[in-house]
Amino acid sequence: MSRDGIGLKPELNFDPIRKILVGANFDIDIDYIKKPPYPRYKNIKRCNDKDANTLVLTDLENKVSLPVGLDYSKHSQTGEEVKTLLEKRIEEVQMCTGCIEHSQSTGQVVADANVSCIRYCEICSEQSEVCDQCKREGQTSINPQLRACRNCIDNKVRCSRLAIIAVIHDCEQKNKTAMEKIVEAKMNNCLKTEISLTNVGPDAVHIGKYLTGSLSNWWLLVDDFRINLVILRILRQIDSPTGKVLRDVISLDSVQRKDRQAMESVAEISSKRSP
Ligand SMILES: [Zn+2]
Ligand SMILES: [Zn+2]
Ligand SMILES: [Zn+2]
Repeated sequence: MSRDGIGLKPELNFDPIRKILVGANFDIDIDYIKKPPYPRYKNIKRCNDKDANTLVLTDLENKVSLPVGLDYSKHSQTGEEVKTLLEKRIEEVQMCTGCIEHSQSTGQVVADANVSCIRYCEICSEQSEVCDQCKREGQTSINPQLRACRNCIDNKVRCSRLAIIAVIHDCEQKNKTAMEKIVEAKMNNCLKTEISLTNVGPDAVHIGKYLTGSLSNWWLLVDDFRINLVILRILRQIDSPTGKVLRDVISLDSVQRKDRQAMESVAEISSKRSP
């Protein structure tokens, strides 16, 4: 599962019927404008939700990707809040198809996700092995991520659902803190059992972006040599045997950094292809 900032960006909209602004995280009406304390620019700036993060699921074979949700988050979200949200979303996505079909939904949005899809057994968990009752019911694991849910067992149907193996996230500070907290909880064995098999980590595209930024703005240490994109470009330009070798193996595009989102340039100048 990955969570990144794509999707419709949030904004404020005036509702002419109710005469209020829609989209703010507090009421902005005529009273708010006229009565003290008078609105400050800073407050107004913080009033609407800032980030739109789309939840996208990808299977382990990297063949199917599916957007399953969209979170609007406010300006000042803490790492703890992101962690709580991630845990909630993982649990919701792991709800089984049987429970989804029987849950309340508005349009196509499941309203009571995960409330009824219970896989946890206290006895199994306490004795660290599958209890007699669960064995009779066909359970083979004590881990809720690998068990059938209560409803499916009672209805004698196959419990079919997803197990989130990894959550991939960009490393904006709040997200990084959330991931560190999850890793820490995992090390201390106090992560929620419903997500105990789930790992977290940064995504390759963002690591690549940092590498591009680093190579342009600072020195990178490679094999005990300090390199920098500007140096690489100058060496490539000069009329010398080194310049010729570099011109043969590195294209001009890749050292110009015209397109700051282009990953090909980074891949080209950091590949191991020898002249
Ligand atoms: Zn279920
Ligand atoms: Zn049990
Ligand atoms: Zn089920």
